[in-house]
Amino acid sequence: MQLSSKEISSGNDLSDIEVLRRGLSDEGCGCPEEELVILNTHVTIHLEPDGSGHAFYDSGDWQEEELFADVTTIPELRIAAKKHLEKLYGI
Ligand SMILES: [Zn+2]
Repeated sequence: MQLSSKEISSGNDLSDIEVLRRGLSDEGCGCPEEELVILNTHVTIHLEPDGSGHAFYDSGDWQEEELFADVTTIPELRIAAKKHLEKLYGI
């Protein structure tokens, strides 16, 4: 899957988010899903149709899951997931 960095542009700073995969979940629900690398951490984001999203973080040393209650688009979820990760790292 090809993705240019220009496709991820928005008003926010997403230059340090690498997209490994984008598509639909194969877990049965078929929700939009992306695999990202942010701050050397593997992040899977999963957008539910009800306006919530999940982020699954895997740094290699630890795993973490976070629910975001008010995201309706993948770009919003990407930003929320990045902000939460920065909080985890104390940035
Ligand atoms: Zn789902």
